[in-house]
Amino acid sequence: MKALATSLALLGFSIGVVWHAFAAEPVPDKLVVLTFDDSVASQATFVAPLLKKHGFGATFFITEGFEFLVDKQNYMTWEQIQALHEQGFEIGNHTRKHAGVNKQKPEQLAADVEFIEQQCEKAGIPRPVSFCYPGYATSKAAAKILKERGYQFARAGGAKAFDPATDDPLLMPQAFDGKPDSTLEQFKAAVAQAKDGKVAVMTFHGVPDIKHPWVNTDPVKFEAYMQHLKDEGCTVVPMRDLAKYAGKK
Ligand SMILES: [Zn+2]
Repeated sequence: MKALATSLALLGFSIGVVWHAFAAEPVPDKLVVLTFDDSVASQATFVAPLLKKHGFGATFFITEGFEFLVDKQNYMTWEQIQALHEQGFEIGNHTRKHAGVNKQKPEQLAADVEFIEQQCEKAGIPRPVSFCYPGYATSKAAAKILKERGYQFARAGGAKAFDPATDDPLLMPQAFDGKPDSTLEQFKAAVAQAKDGKVAVMTFHGVPDIKHPWVNTDPVKFEAYMQHLKDEGCTVVPMRDLAKYAGKK
């Protein structure tokens, strides 16, 4: 009887695996993921309302690093972060202190990751499944810790579209990194890479970003970027939505 139960369980598992393989959808052209790092206040006050107007999804990567704890004019409050979640945006993990993972001991990284998970839990936000490497520094050891903790996606730096068929989702490249001197032409070129099974993952910080002028995006320029996504008919989603597409893992 026990053997029969085991066989049935194995059969069910096999059907589940096969079903999942067939259920995974192919990546459509013009699939864009918008991500916003560093818990900047303008993400709640300017970015989120604009994205809502366009019907776009996005992921906000939260850290309590920099002056998050003392400067509540320039960094979001947890109430604002909770409101982003309630509006349907994804809250991702960008670690407690924004330390480079390549310089951290595994236990330090695990503790910094867990801290943001706990803060999310306190705010009624689901445990994050997406991560963003602080300063874009990566390591294989860090990717392993993230996988063990249940993370499905982790964005790094780079300048190319993400190919779920060949790229590790826990070392995901970005196609665009919004900087003060970035141009609409560069943004359009990044969007144009979202085809043939590839996804354009876009990185922004504050819009504007007063405390980190080297990653500032001008609001007028940002509006033009978003208008381009609208005009192109892009599907604009949070990172977690990539789970439904066929991938390497
Ligand atoms: Zn950051």
